[in-house]
Amino acid sequence: MRPVVRGDCPKNQDNTEIKYSDFPNARGALINRLGEFCSYCEMRLEAGLAVEHIQPKKPDGATVVISDRESDWQNFLLACPNCNSTKGNTEVIIEDYYWPDRDNTFRALQYSVDGIIKPDATLSNDEKLRADATIKLTGLDKQPLNNPKASDRRWLNRRDVWNIAQKTKHRLTGNSNNTNFRETIVDVATGHGHWSIWMTVFKDDADMLRRFINAFSGTCHECFDDTNQYFAIARQGGQI
Ligand SMILES: [Zn+2]
Repeated sequence: MRPVVRGDCPKNQDNTEIKYSDFPNARGALINRLGEFCSYCEMRLEAGLAVEHIQPKKPDGATVVISDRESDWQNFLLACPNCNSTKGNTEVIIEDYYWPDRDNTFRALQYSVDGIIKPDATLSNDEKLRADATIKLTGLDKQPLNNPKASDRRWLNRRDVWNIAQKTKHRLTGNSNNTNFRETIVDVATGHGHWSIWMTVFKDDADMLRRFINAFSGTCHECFDDTNQYFAIARQGGQI
C-alpha cells in the first residue's frame, strides 16, 4: 500500500480552510494531491473513485452521522467501490491498523507473484497482526478463485499488472541505460496504477524506484532513503 501525503486542507481565496460539509466536493482536491488511485488497493480508476472516510462518518450501530468525521479533510482518502464496500462502516481504532496517510504502509505489506498481498515477513508479531487487520479491513486478501461469482476484480487486476511489470523489467535488461525506455515504463506504471507492485518488481533498480516515487502524485518521499537505494524506512510519527 502506497504511503501518501494528503497535505494541508485546501484553502479558499481568502486563505481560510475550505469546509467540506458536502464531502464529495473534496474529490477533485484529493485526486490532485494523490492521483487517480484507490488509496488502499492502488487500482487506477478514472471514474468511480469516491471520497473515503478513514473513520466512518456513521459507524455500524450509530444512529447519527458524526459531522466532525464527515467533513474533516484529514479523515479523507480515495477508495474504489470494492475497498469502499468491504471497509463499509466498520468502526476503526486507528492504532489497530496501518494507514497510507500516517504510516509507511509499503513496509507493512508484501506483494508477490500474481499480486498476492500478505503481511511483510520481516514484521514482528504485533506488526503482523496490524498488517493482517489492514488487509482484512479492505479485503485485499480476496481472491476470485475462492468465489467464482465474485465481482471483485482487484486480485485479477493486480495479477495482470504484476505480469506487465515483469515483462517491462525483462525488456529493460540489455537496454538499461535507455532513459527514454525507463520513462516509458513509468508511463505504463502510472497508467495502470498498483504502485507497490512496480516498486516490488523493480526493487533492485534504485533509479526506477526514484522514478516511481516521483511519478505517482502524493507518494510520501520521506518514507524512502534516497541515500540508500530508496530503501523503505520508518515514517516519522507513524507506527511503521
Ligand atoms: Zn480499492
